Amino acid sequence: MAINRILIANRGEIALRIHRAAREMGIETVAVHSTADADAMHVRLADHAVCIGPPAAKDSYLNVAAIISAAEITGADAIHPGYGFLSENARFAEIVEAHGITWIGPKPEHIRTMGDKVEAKKTAGALGLPLVPGSDGAVSDFDEARAIAEKIGYPVIIKAASGGGGRGMKVCNAPEELETLMQQAGSEAKAAFGDATVYIEKYLGNPRHIEFQIFGDGKGNAIHLGERDCSLQRRHQKVLEEAPSPVITAQERARMGGIVSKAMADMGYRGAGTIEFLWENGEFYFIEMNTRLQVEHPVTEAITGMDLVREQIRVADGQPLSVRQEDIEFRGHAIECRINAEDPFTFAPSPGLVESFHAPGGLHVRVDSGLYAGYKIPPYYDSMVAKLIVYGRTRQGCIMRLKRALEEMAIGGVKTSIPLHQALLKDEEFQSGDYTIKWLEEWLAKR
Ligand code: ADP
Repeated sequence: MAINRILIANRGEIALRIHRAAREMGIETVAVHSTADADAMHVRLADHAVCIGPPAAKDSYLNVAAIISAAEITGADAIHPGYGFLSENARFAEIVEAHGITWIGPKPEHIRTMGDKVEAKKTAGALGLPLVPGSDGAVSDFDEARAIAEKIGYPVIIKAASGGGGRGMKVCNAPEELETLMQQAGSEAKAAFGDATVYIEKYLGNPRHIEFQIFGDGKGNAIHLGERDCSLQRRHQKVLEEAPSPVITAQERARMGGIVSKAMADMGYRGAGTIEFLWENGEFYFIEMNTRLQVEHPVTEAITGMDLVREQIRVADGQPLSVRQEDIEFRGHAIECRINAEDPFTFAPSPGLVESFHAPGGLHVRVDSGLYAGYKIPPYYDSMVAKLIVYGRTRQGCIMRLKRALEEMAIGGVKTSIPLHQALLKDEEFQSGDYTIKWLEEWLAKR
């Protein structure tokens, strides 16, 4: 292993997650943090810590010059970006590599291609992945747009090429709305992402969100680690994820997994990636690829027994994949609850002092969180403060254990989404596994 010291260019639970994997490999860690995060758990645990700026992310966690300087000062020989922040910034990856530092992530050209959704769709199509019917690329001409929408049929969805985080999308139900909505989508995309490019695709009425975890060695070999079902969403944001999906059979997993891993092998993809699909009436439709570790990666770890961060570090170090496809066994069932510091039903943020904290434990219960009693949750960042991941031999057993773990978990002083998860788990439709991406919002509206 040529990597001796990893700089973790992130914060919160994922910074801690990366620290843990590194320490277990005998690798030192460097935490970089904003002034607001000086007391964070990963900063306390890391071997070295460097303050890189004030609270605003643009001045700290997105501050490329400060992060590179911190790596040079501390002699870090690799950088792990986590998720969010600079993790899908191809330019940052190039700068890291140009400084002779190992980038624990995909090749910059693949980050760039997949970061542009129009390019990503073209690439995915060329690699043989099934696509949502729609425009063959960017659309700017209204007549062309109308012709495409007519051909695929209404409703259609207008999406920003540079969109992300569920933003920059407009559903259009009829031809007379198309022009206005395209203009709106374009100007909103320009304002949010600096790029007005939009494209059109069929709006699927009631799909599930199913994504495949893949890994490539960058030299033409790739494997898949099965799927995750992330259909429980609010405003296109995932709330609870599970693996395997309650609706995918072992045959379908093997078939689709084979298609995605072949595509990644052909591409020469390096490191961890996620291929996201919508799934309706038994068909998969590619929507996008994320060229990074996902928040929900632990459910895959639970059912495969693999440490995905360790694998990322090994691959970045130039080592071969640690397992062959035929060695991977999918066992049991895992569910992750995202615990946010917010009101469980109004979703109003609830940062501030954590007066008390008790983490659940016991067999097959995992908590990824930087929380501790006396910690102050800063108001500047994402509200997710913990992930509870529970494993069971069956889905039903997993749900029972998850209920038990949620009962034990106590976070005092701030509001959290624990009561939301508890209410969800009691719902019979959730228990039956029969839900789509629309389900959670309808369920919330009925309450
Ligand atoms: P982002 O990068 O902003 O997350 P995605 O393309 O991954 O955007 O889409 C996010 C979510 O938006 C999906 O999980 C799904 O809920 C919804 N969505 C996206 N495309 C479609 C579509 N063609 N039909 C129906 N829903 C869609």
